[in-house]
Amino acid sequence: MTTVRFAPSPTGLLHVGNARTALLNFLFAKKNGGKFLLRIDDTDSERSKPEYETAIVEDLGWLGIAHDLFARQSERTDAHRVAAEKLKASGRLYPCYETQLELDRRRQRQIAAGRPPVYDRAALKLTGEDRAKLEAQGRRPHWRFKLSQSKVRWRDLIRGEVEIDTAHLSDPVLIREDGRFLYTLPSVTDDVDFAVTQIIRGEDHVTNTAAQIEIFEALGATAPAFAHHPLLVGAGGEALSKRLGSLSLRLLREDGIEPMSAVSYLAKTGTSDAVAAHASLDELVAEFAVEKIGRAPAHFDPAELSNLNAKLLHGLPFEAVAARLASAGIDGGAAFWDAVKPNLARFSDVSDLWTLVKGPLAPIIENAPLIAKAAELLPPEPWDEATWSAWTKAVAAATGAKGRDLYHPLRLALTGREHGPELKKLLPLIGRARSLARLQRETA
Ligand code: GLU
Repeated sequence: MTTVRFAPSPTGLLHVGNARTALLNFLFAKKNGGKFLLRIDDTDSERSKPEYETAIVEDLGWLGIAHDLFARQSERTDAHRVAAEKLKASGRLYPCYETQLELDRRRQRQIAAGRPPVYDRAALKLTGEDRAKLEAQGRRPHWRFKLSQSKVRWRDLIRGEVEIDTAHLSDPVLIREDGRFLYTLPSVTDDVDFAVTQIIRGEDHVTNTAAQIEIFEALGATAPAFAHHPLLVGAGGEALSKRLGSLSLRLLREDGIEPMSAVSYLAKTGTSDAVAAHASLDELVAEFAVEKIGRAPAHFDPAELSNLNAKLLHGLPFEAVAARLASAGIDGGAAFWDAVKPNLARFSDVSDLWTLVKGPLAPIIENAPLIAKAAELLPPEPWDEATWSAWTKAVAAATGAKGRDLYHPLRLALTGREHGPELKKLLPLIGRARSLARLQRETA
């Protein structure tokens, strides 16, 4: 059974970068008939906030990314302790007593001497007596995982063969001096306990993976497969990290981006498929393949997303938006939707365009004699899309006006605007009474 997980820390709002990681995991799970676990990595009790967890669940829900399984790391401390004891028993987890200041000084000396700033394992040389002395001074240990100092290899589903020599890494601290776990051991423990089969995450975790594979093995488990995707960068290749606040899903939503536009964009950017508007997550699942994710950074360009959003709206059938139109108090039916959708950048623009139909709006009279003639020549109802052409032909014949000189004054009188949806579609919606009133300079 395929099980993948998305493991956000509830220390902030989801931004487009981590939403993309969530989406890739979700698509992978659905494509393989597997399960998607949402795991809240809340071991950092100072920075984790329940309101961020709520926001994460809501934002994923907005995107349509539903989880099959849910876990909170803070509720799994017993399992993490058992894993830690196992590592201590096998000598892979060892106590260290250096203070941060001592470690910093040591690191500076190493750098000054041209050596890599890797932890020197001084703590491994402490005798029982040394440790007792340090404890008597009030020092509490933090605990490091003893790496094998050998080459760790895996076949990454995106990067291909990867080899990392853990001799070049510091033994990672798994437990802090105050007894709290850092991210690494809970993550591995939970991946084992939930039988995670693939870990799909950003390439900023590649180095962690080498250490984690060693921890999986030290716990007697088999490491899952890994897929490290390139990170999302801005349109010009700049890191998104500085603008994360402005790229939260919350803001996209407030800005009126459709969730399907966001997922269409995030599913395809950085892949060998073209970025295009998709109508459903099922469509994206059908087209998903982890092999399509490229090695080059994926780009996130708000302007491109905005265009995609407009395209998506332009392609939506009336049935897909009927309920939303109704709740916006718009009862123009399919005819209204078809008339205005090519003019939408955001769905909320419909309300403004609805005033072109229902009014009241103040007409602008640019060429009074022409408009007076046009009012006289308004055909009787019933009206349809052919009415506009029959009427404007008659006005042209009576006034000699043509092209812009004919259409522009009519648009200004009927809509009070320079631009807008096609008049042949709007005219039957506005109706004869209101059209006549506007041509007679009445606000209607
Ligand atoms: N909580 C970790 C993070 O947000 C999860 C990384 C992982 O997927 O293992 O970076």
